[in-house]
Amino acid sequence: MSVPVFDGHNDVLLRLWQKKSASAVRDFLDGDGIGHIDLPRLKAGGMAGGFFAVFAPDDHIGAPDDSDLNPPLAGSLSRSKAQVSTCGMVELLHDIVRESAGAVSLCTSVADITSAMATGRLAVILHVEGAEAIAGDLDGLQALYDKGLRSLGPVWSRPNVFGHGVPFRFPSPPDTGPGLTEPGKALVAGCNSMGILVDLSHLNEKGFWDAAKISQAPLVATHSNVHAICPSSRNLTDDQLLAIGESGGMVGLNYATGFLRDDGRWTTETSSDVLITHLEHMLRLVGEDGVGLGSDFDGARIPGFIGDSAGVPKLVAAMDKAGFGSGLIEKIAWKNWLRVLQRTWGV
Ligand code: ZN
Repeated sequence: MSVPVFDGHNDVLLRLWQKKSASAVRDFLDGDGIGHIDLPRLKAGGMAGGFFAVFAPDDHIGAPDDSDLNPPLAGSLSRSKAQVSTCGMVELLHDIVRESAGAVSLCTSVADITSAMATGRLAVILHVEGAEAIAGDLDGLQALYDKGLRSLGPVWSRPNVFGHGVPFRFPSPPDTGPGLTEPGKALVAGCNSMGILVDLSHLNEKGFWDAAKISQAPLVATHSNVHAICPSSRNLTDDQLLAIGESGGMVGLNYATGFLRDDGRWTTETSSDVLITHLEHMLRLVGEDGVGLGSDFDGARIPGFIGDSAGVPKLVAAMDKAGFGSGLIEKIAWKNWLRVLQRTWGV
């Protein structure tokens, strides 16, 4: 079956920004064939859009790999350094939208997304992954909102003024450190009142429960998997999945092999069976309305059978083969994301 796919997480803006090239915008629009995502491959894969992450890198941060399955938590990043890359990637996204001649839409409401999907435009949500560019008194949050920010992860997998991210450890429980700081709690409340989705994917377990206690919105982990299947510290325990379901929230399946496999390895030789197993577990605990996709394209090593964003129909075919049925596949592929965004944004 052919179905549009709305995706919970990708890192293409970081990939493009790191090129430091004047051609980065055209590379996206015309396709550069590098990594997992560009516009032609998104179209080839039937991808209608998704959350485009702005992630402020540190010089030594790379994607996790098999060389160390127990790395320490990454060091913190200064606000000034984070502001440079954050602003750079936000501007890059605005340049892409401007130069796309209507092919790419920056969406700040579900009406924007449905209209983009109806007319074949790529629907992009601006997401910031790790709030280092925002000060502890929330200075900077409004400016990002004005630029189109509608989804925010308080931390990436490192400590900042708002809390402690979870490291990429295997095997390890997600309970790896202290919870949200007072500014972190204020940030969750601030996002609630502004209608910004709070992404819990990189929080450690104490931070997750702190956010769950404060948040008035459905709980969302845009790109995380099932800890009971793959015991990576980045994955969600059954109790966390149940809490997400009870809140009317959502979890997006991450294609990163180290968060999928029961041996925690980063190898492209990973079959569709393991993704289906995660989805089935999520469906049991979170419910049919709370499961979606959160690829982590351009941010992780993904299974070879998907390859890149043009290969997403192969995952849809695997769901079909597993007997999910067209109604459920549509929910997972895009409808659930729109439902949870409607509840979170209110528009
Ligand atoms: Zn991430």
